Amino acid sequence: GAAAAIDELRQRLAPEGNVVSEAGRRKTIEVFGEPLTPVQVVERICREVREQGVDAVLEYSAKLDGAELTADQLRVPAEELKAAHAAADPEFLATVQRIRENILRFQTAILHSDVEIPTPGGGFLRQRYLPLARVGICVPGGAAAYPSTVLMTAVPAQAAGVQELAVVAPPTKFGSYNQDLLATCHEIGVTEVYRAGGAQAVAAMAYGLGDRLPQVDMIVGPGNLFVALAKKHVYGEVDIDSIAGPSEVIVIADENTPPEHAAADLIAQAEHAPGSAVLITWHEPLVAEVNVAVRQQLEELERGDLARQSLEEFGAFIIVNDRDHAAQIADLLATEHLHIACAEPEELLAKIRCAGAVFLGPHSPVPVGDYAAGPSHVLPTGSTARFASGLSSNDFLRSNSVISWSEQDLKQNAEDIVRIAEKEGLTAHAATVTRRLG
Ligand code: NAD
Repeated sequence: GAAAAIDELRQRLAPEGNVVSEAGRRKTIEVFGEPLTPVQVVERICREVREQGVDAVLEYSAKLDGAELTADQLRVPAEELKAAHAAADPEFLATVQRIRENILRFQTAILHSDVEIPTPGGGFLRQRYLPLARVGICVPGGAAAYPSTVLMTAVPAQAAGVQELAVVAPPTKFGSYNQDLLATCHEIGVTEVYRAGGAQAVAAMAYGLGDRLPQVDMIVGPGNLFVALAKKHVYGEVDIDSIAGPSEVIVIADENTPPEHAAADLIAQAEHAPGSAVLITWHEPLVAEVNVAVRQQLEELERGDLARQSLEEFGAFIIVNDRDHAAQIADLLATEHLHIACAEPEELLAKIRCAGAVFLGPHSPVPVGDYAAGPSHVLPTGSTARFASGLSSNDFLRSNSVISWSEQDLKQNAEDIVRIAEKEGLTAHAATVTRRLG
């Protein structure tokens, strides 16, 4: 039936299922001289960092990233950030600044603001929102460099008013030795950058390394399986954004969508390698046309082989009966990126509730959101958009409720409070109310 088909599709979209539950339990690596699952590896790293502090972090940097650092070399010196900035291409820095402004404009506009309502007796109720004091940001650096990730995490936090931001990136040429990354941090005012990656960096931020790296309140940002599992492990000590898995897109297209555009969209996602890319259409001839276009474009592409492999493994064409059917399937798959590339995209969007980020129409391909538009590219994957949202400035706020009743408010409600308190057997609760009313 339909449920089995959807399960099969989900499997194809997120072959490792929930990154934490499935991949985390697989047998793995022998970094410790014995076969351990990633979950066990992460638990061990977190425990050692908690107990031994910076020494454990440095030991794992040496073991896992081949970086021999001293404790004093953990934090990137201010002069190094400045030097990277001074040496950076001015056009690159101007781009960073323009993107920062786009992100800041959107993320500031969507911020929650305080709400206050009067009570019948002349008092008031208020919800107030306050930024977190200190946030840690994971920037990946194992296989590629991601200055865009700094922008898409740090700038929403800045929009929320977070004062202290600590960035961690592995001590590699794609991580905290990457000059573009350091220049980007300096350009947007991030001054704390640490040379550590993986689970050891997450643990360091969650538990703190004394004065060397004060504990943070929340850890955000993408990373590989070890980073994701470590974030899950420390959740509760600190807040986290989400636990992300491999990237994915669904493109909904029809006879109005140029096949070469749909093909380019699928390939762009597959380039993440792994990245799942699914085309949904009710216009059957489009499948063959997109197929031809995909093959042509792969020939011309730098990362063509990687994208081809990824498409063969995690790609799919789904032919549906009509627009409603397409909406239904997209909704059930709850994909990270949903590109509605058919005619009247707004009308179709109205039928879909679950997606990380939605891209409407012919001029909003996914990289617009990845790099420039304003919403963060840190998004829920693996069907978790059923219950999770993409990162935004509001995630960096806490709220307090404030109650300020008048004597009249208390009088008017005392009877109800006392009744409930007595039902629960908490008579002291009742007494502190009645005592005030004389
Ligand atoms: P990473 O920085 O996340 O991970 C590198 C770290 O993993 C190393 O520092 C090391 O400590 C740890 N590690 C590696 N092998 C290990 C092992 N065997 N045992 C214990 N720890 C180990 O970098 P990455 O590997 O390049 O992964 C980055 C991921 O983030 C990719 O999947 C990429 O697609 C994703 N990403 C997502 C977004 C997004 O916003 N959604 C953006 C950029 C990158």
